[in-house]
Amino acid sequence: MEKFSDEQLIQKAKEAAKLHKSSEDVRIGEVGCALISEKGNLYLGVSIHACCGIGFCAEHSAIASMVLNQEYKIKKIVAVCGDGTILPPCGRCREFMYRINKENLKTEIIIGKNKAVKLKELLPHPWN
Ligand SMILES: [Zn+2]
Repeated sequence: MEKFSDEQLIQKAKEAAKLHKSSEDVRIGEVGCALISEKGNLYLGVSIHACCGIGFCAEHSAIASMVLNQEYKIKKIVAVCGDGTILPPCGRCREFMYRINKENLKTEIIIGKNKAVKLKELLPHPWN
């Protein structure tokens, strides 16, 4: 029995996506991310966009939270904008999930309402 349904995970990511600014150059939380680790734990993240491309995606901060618990395998992940739009991960995040643990090719990625794919489908020919 899953602790979180897809709908609940999408809702958690949307709740994390609350735009605020720490300075005039930085937008925090345009995108929120929720992931379930292989052990069934929930981790949240937010995007931080700063000038000169020095920010990062919501997936990155959710994964950073996960690794604090020495967990590296992602069972399921979703990224959502504040308006509820579900976003597939960018190319960098696809590669990042793969690099964190290669078994994450099995990660289920929610890319739309009632639509999920495995990371392997989004990253069919990983670079080694
Ligand atoms: Zn990304």
